[in-house]
Amino acid sequence: MAMEIILLGPPGAGKGTQAGLIEEAYGMVQLSTGDMLRAAVKAGTPVGLKAKAVMEAGELVSDDIVSGIIGDRLDELGSETGVIFDGYPRTEAQAASLDEILKSRGRKLNHVIELGVDEDALVDRITGRYTCAKCNEGYHDRHKQPAKDSVCDECGSTEFKRRPDDNEETVRTRMAEYRGKTAPILPIYEERGIVTRVDGMGGIEEVASSIRAILGAPPK
Ligand code: ADP
Ligand code: ADP
Ligand code: ZN
Repeated sequence: MAMEIILLGPPGAGKGTQAGLIEEAYGMVQLSTGDMLRAAVKAGTPVGLKAKAVMEAGELVSDDIVSGIIGDRLDELGSETGVIFDGYPRTEAQAASLDEILKSRGRKLNHVIELGVDEDALVDRITGRYTCAKCNEGYHDRHKQPAKDSVCDECGSTEFKRRPDDNEETVRTRMAEYRGKTAPILPIYEERGIVTRVDGMGGIEEVASSIRAILGAPPK
C-alpha cells in the first residue's frame, strides 16, 4: 500500500525542501497547499482571488478551500502513489477533513514528521528564501545557492523569484498562526502513535537523513 506522510512545521522550517528530497528518493508526490494556492493566485482563478490578500497578510486561507484542492489533487493520482502533505493540514478542521478524504479513498496516514526549528533561524531562512521562476526549485541566499551563479541547478533557468509574504513582519503573523492553530493538531496524531519530531536545525542533508531513518529504506 502507498505510504502517506505529513510534514508539519512552522514557516521556513524546511518542509518544501525535504518534501522535494523525499519525492526523489521514494517516488512519492508532494502536495503543497501553499504552492497550489500561489498557482491559483497567479492564474487568477476564483480560489486565487479569494486567497491573495489573506496570504499576503500571513493569515490562513479557509479550511473548505484548502481541503477542496487537496481532495481534487489526490483524485489525479493513482492509488499506488504515496503522498507527502506539505503545509496541510494546518487546523483541527483540516485534520478532520484529511481523515475523511483519505478514508474515502482507501488511504491511511503512516507518519507525521514535525520539523523543529528556532524562531530566529526561521526568520533567517524565510528572509533569504528564493525559488526558480520556471521549475520552483528552492534556494537560499546563504544556505543553498545554485552550483553555477544565478543558474538553476534543476532546469538551467536564470530567472528567480521571492514570495511577497516572505518578509519579517508577515513571518511573525505566520508563526503566530502556526503556534495558535497548527501546533494544536499534533496531539490528534500523537494519540495514534505516528508522530516523530525531527531536529530541523541541522543542515539540509542531515535533516534528510533523519527523515529517511523514519521512513525506512527507499524502494530500489
Ligand atoms: P510556508 O512554506 O512558509 O509554511 P506555505 O507556502 O505553506 O508557507 O503557505 C503560504 C500561505 O498559504 C500561508 O501563510 C497561508 O496563507 C496559505 N496556506 C497554505 N497552506 C494552507 C492551509 N493548509 N490552510 C490555510 N492556509 C494555507
Ligand atoms: P518551508 O517549506 O517549511 O516553508 P523551505 O523548505 O522553503 O521551508 O525552506 C525555507 C528556506 O530555508 C529555503 O530558502 C531553503 O533553501 C532553506 N533551508 C531549508 N532547509 C534548510 C536547512 N536544513 N538549513 C538551512 N537552510 C535550509
Ligand atoms: Zn529551475
